[in-house]
Amino acid sequence: MDKRVAIIGGGVAGLGAALSLDRYGIESIIIEKSPNLGGKVTGYAQLFPDFKDGKALVAELIDKARRSPRIRVLTNASIRTMARQDGRFELAMTSGDAVCADAVILTCGFEVFDARKQGEYGYGVYPNVITAPELELFLDPEGPTKGKLLRPSDGQPAQRVAIIFCVGSRNKRLGNPYCSRICCSYSTKQAIEIMERHPDANVTCFYMDIRTYGRGFEEMYQYAQELGVKYVRGRVSECSALPNGDIQVRAENTLMCRPVQGAFDVVSLSVGMAPCSDGAQIAAWLGLELDPYGFFQAKDDYLSPYETHQEGVFLAGSISGLKPIRDCLSDGFSAGGEVALYLQRLHQGRG
Ligand code: SF4
Repeated sequence: MDKRVAIIGGGVAGLGAALSLDRYGIESIIIEKSPNLGGKVTGYAQLFPDFKDGKALVAELIDKARRSPRIRVLTNASIRTMARQDGRFELAMTSGDAVCADAVILTCGFEVFDARKQGEYGYGVYPNVITAPELELFLDPEGPTKGKLLRPSDGQPAQRVAIIFCVGSRNKRLGNPYCSRICCSYSTKQAIEIMERHPDANVTCFYMDIRTYGRGFEEMYQYAQELGVKYVRGRVSECSALPNGDIQVRAENTLMCRPVQGAFDVVSLSVGMAPCSDGAQIAAWLGLELDPYGFFQAKDDYLSPYETHQEGVFLAGSISGLKPIRDCLSDGFSAGGEVALYLQRLHQGRG
């Protein structure tokens, strides 16, 4: 079939979509604005809930994509404009190149919430308040500290760690009333990693509710508690720095109905996710609908979750709502299959 698909975004959903199309013998071109493929998963040494090697997974996907003569990859590639003309999509790149495609799959992913917007936690002010992606870097055996969790202020080992859930999510004041869905699980995974390496560590998670809904997620939560991770139900009102660099955390324990506080070496903020920053522009180019928070609307969440209201434009991954990594990957494979069917109909003149 002489058809080509443009895939916007080279994370796991985009790679999955390209590999799926490849199985049907369909050419695709992955357009990724950053220098590398793999998206945010490249920042995870271990995935959840199974502690699979995230970098190895990404490397395998990239290797398969690179070995296919039907998959072309453009990195550092920005789209200047995009439009559908005479049934084909014309993408003008800022480099001056043009890409022509018969269908488009949008897999632009999400943005991590900027923790500075929740000023009461002191991110960007106190060096020992970090975000979950930064904690992930500390826990990475190939990262800058070789997997050692150190206090950023003085490089000393961190033994007392607080993790604050729901930062930037479930918060109407910030305009993000939705649950980001994956932060309870990725933070629990991080707590487990700390406890497995340092059984005498003190890891305390401050949570609103625990939402570990996926297969294997609840078991991971149970395992964390068996390792000694403490879960305190309550909203943290404030973090403040003590003269020695410790971070004082104040919260209301909503199960005990009393205030609690404690000093920690490091506080990690379980930042939520926001819609991808390019979404509004892409939606305007293609005449697509966004939901009130900026995520793309599928044609029908039940019956056509990968299609949009515009012919030839498909969605995969967190662009239509936040999902765990393995769901993003399976979304990519499924969307590739949907597009193959669509192109077959076009090819047969019944599109
Ligand atoms: Fe909060 Fe957990 Fe939902 Fe994340 S997944 S927003 S931490 S309840």
